[in-house]
Amino acid sequence: MVDFALAIELDETERAVQETARRFATDVLRPLGADLDKLPAEDVIADGSPLYDAHKQFRDLGFAGMRLGEDMSRAQKARLVCLVGYELGRGDTGLALGLGGSTFPAMVANASCNPELMAQFNYDQIGCWAITEPDHGSDELDVTGAASATGLNRGRGNCIARPDGNSIVINGQKSAWVSNGTIAETAALFCTYDDGSDEVKHGCFLVDLKDEGVSRGKPTDKIGQRSLNQGEIFFDEVRIPAENMVAPPDRYSDFTTMILTRANSSMGISFSGLAQAAFDEALAYAKERKQGGVPIIQHQNVKGRLFEMFRKVLAARALNWQVCMQNFTTADARLEYAIATKVTSTQTAFEVASEAMTIFGGASIIRDHPVERMLRDARISMIEDGNNDLLGLMAADRF
Ligand SMILES: Cc1cc2nc3c(=O)[nH]c(=O)nc-3n(C[C@H](O)[C@H](O)[C@H](O)COP(=O)(O)OP(=O)(O)OC[C@H]3O[C@@H](n4cnc5c(N)ncnc54)[C@H](O)[C@@H]3O)c2cc1C
Repeated sequence: MVDFALAIELDETERAVQETARRFATDVLRPLGADLDKLPAEDVIADGSPLYDAHKQFRDLGFAGMRLGEDMSRAQKARLVCLVGYELGRGDTGLALGLGGSTFPAMVANASCNPELMAQFNYDQIGCWAITEPDHGSDELDVTGAASATGLNRGRGNCIARPDGNSIVINGQKSAWVSNGTIAETAALFCTYDDGSDEVKHGCFLVDLKDEGVSRGKPTDKIGQRSLNQGEIFFDEVRIPAENMVAPPDRYSDFTTMILTRANSSMGISFSGLAQAAFDEALAYAKERKQGGVPIIQHQNVKGRLFEMFRKVLAARALNWQVCMQNFTTADARLEYAIATKVTSTQTAFEVASEAMTIFGGASIIRDHPVERMLRDARISMIEDGNNDLLGLMAADRF
């Protein structure tokens, strides 16, 4: 079977995985996302919440770290990552991002090539990527200061790790935006490293969040992606083994760039899925809703609007596939391309969801309507993993 949008032929395994992902997205993620959207942030993560069952199903299906493709080549695995990520984003982006974000510590452990860390920080846990801080958002991601007006002056962080014999001791906090922040069992922690020198340095650490001294803030209440838990993590004299420093200061910039490249590529996948979902909803409605004696799709401006939506979704998806296949299969992954697909997909998702609202007319403004939720989800994606405008400056600096 040929996927016309991507101009690729899917083999039998790929078709089966795509079908499984589509069913999981349609039967589980879409209705669950709609239900969690209505709940207070505390209830989304309460004991017994179906959120945890979605995490379990994600793991059982082999999607966490794409373990079901373990015996495959890098290119084959990359294709599955793209196919599955797109379907899950089409189901519910808040959940898709929470499930994907939970794999960060395992991904970082794999990058360390340390078998003990790989065993301890694995895909069976809910993890998080803790990088931004109350006083450090954009500057934490813009590690080279590419977008900075004044030259990079990140100052001292809100979260500081210091060496102490064979341990590293962590104090401070991460921001209220950390995805899975209040439920994560493990963290890939990117923070200031104070080795006693005058220089401001940074490192990346793997932290078991069950360790003594770790506490959490309240889950963040927000306008979109309400099915995605976010919140602060606090560290009070948290002691971890020195080996858990995965990226020391001299590797920090390259390491952060590598992780951001991965994260932005994945954001592109999920939000091309949301854009497609918004288009699908609008198209179905345009065929069904009658005004002026005919289904509204018969009206020329509705047709024209649908074509514009179709064109944008197609372009976002095609770019995303190209970038991900390149970035996930080469040792020389490129951040600027990942940013191009993240910005294109999130901007497209926002525009297409907004156009979908126009096609739904008054019906779309009713709270809990699928497309009003998609619009809210898409809007905050333009800030997630870096504000789109800042990311653009970072990309251009690499030309
Ligand atoms: C849904 C969602 C999920 C998230 N998940 C995570 C997560 O898992 N882990 C995590 O650690 N964080 C996470 N974040 C945080 C996110 O990465 C930050 O919100 C983002 O990087 C912006 O940082 P800030 O909010 O501190 O804004 P600021 O950095 O204060 O920026 C505010 C405004 O100023 C602009 N600006 C700031 N500095 C510059 C500059 N140098 N040049 C040009 N413009 C600039 C920005 O573009 C923006 O418009 C998430 C955020 C969202 C919305």
